[in-house]
Amino acid sequence: MTIVKTHALVLRITPYSNTSHVVVWLTEAGERISTLIKGALRPKSDFLGQYGLFCGCELLYYRRDGDGLHIARECALLEARTGLRRNWRAFGGASYISHLILNTSMEGQRDPLGYHLAQTAFDALDTGGARQEAVFWFELQWLKHLGFSPQLQQCTRCHRPLGARETHVLWATEGVVCGACADTQRTGGPSSTALATLRPDVLAILRRWQAQPDAHVMATTQCSERQVLEFDRLLGMLIADHMDNTPESRKIALLLMRSGFGANGSSK
Ligand SMILES: [Zn+2]
Repeated sequence: MTIVKTHALVLRITPYSNTSHVVVWLTEAGERISTLIKGALRPKSDFLGQYGLFCGCELLYYRRDGDGLHIARECALLEARTGLRRNWRAFGGASYISHLILNTSMEGQRDPLGYHLAQTAFDALDTGGARQEAVFWFELQWLKHLGFSPQLQQCTRCHRPLGARETHVLWATEGVVCGACADTQRTGGPSSTALATLRPDVLAILRRWQAQPDAHVMATTQCSERQVLEFDRLLGMLIADHMDNTPESRKIALLLMRSGFGANGSSK
């Protein structure tokens, strides 16, 4: 057993006994780990107030070889993300992002980019409120990180580059399809994949988001209501394809985020 110190994000907290928790983390190395926090709920526990969902912490833990729970020794809260505690719609978005990470990552795999993406998305929801753009940006970046990036530059069937002004472009789960290939498919071509219409403005935003893993691009994109619904549908097709189904948490999070008053979904 070795002792390890790392920054980590809290993805899930579950009760383990009357006084203990199991916490699932995404470490700064991009590894998903689970730790037992013994006595977390005892009145004088050093862990009280030192971690919470979607917070960033400095974690010191005893690492066990092989599968199973590691043991947390110390934890200090670094990023409380109090904006998420005040805006339950934004909290819903963070919950779905966490669900997506938990269901598409495995213990033992490492990639610091995953940590960066999760932290960026949590920060965006914390400071920007319930902006669905943060969720869509994360989905696109996370799929890219997993190696399932949709092809957005050229037709996935004939490989013809598609310019920004092309008007007849369609969307399959593997990426864009040009109008000519879509027409061939409609008249009895080989593929049976359902195609969806993709407008040039939506394609332009997808290209911008896919190219940029930093928060600035997402934070400065303000989508119209129509665009938001299109991203919901198009990225939903992608997620459903890679996770075998659209997770309920996605439907609930996006509904929550667009319900309520004002574009920001403030919970006041
Ligand atoms: Zn084509």
